[in-house]
Amino acid sequence: MNAIYRRTLSAEDVDTGTIFIEKSRWRRFPPPMREFAVRVGRDRFATRIVAEPCDCVAPTHEHYHLEANHFRDRLNFVRGAAIEICQDADGAYSIANA
Ligand SMILES: [Zn+2]
Repeated sequence: MNAIYRRTLSAEDVDTGTIFIEKSRWRRFPPPMREFAVRVGRDRFATRIVAEPCDCVAPTHEHYHLEANHFRDRLNFVRGAAIEICQDADGAYSIANA
């Protein structure tokens, strides 16, 4: 299993039930709105990346967030918690606390 993304959850991640994906890592994930499976513990969940327009700096750009609200109860999903996303040789994704 290769760790492809690590994130320390922000207050916004926790409030929205999503995991912010940094732009430099976008290509490690399926494109926005394409459903894919992630394993969390023993179970698999369908999820997707959602792209949102943002004006935090000009010009208007997109932020990517991975939807996690429906499996957040399987994780320590609190501000400051470390999340690690891994991908195995078959391309399957898993998410766990780091
Ligand atoms: Zn922005």
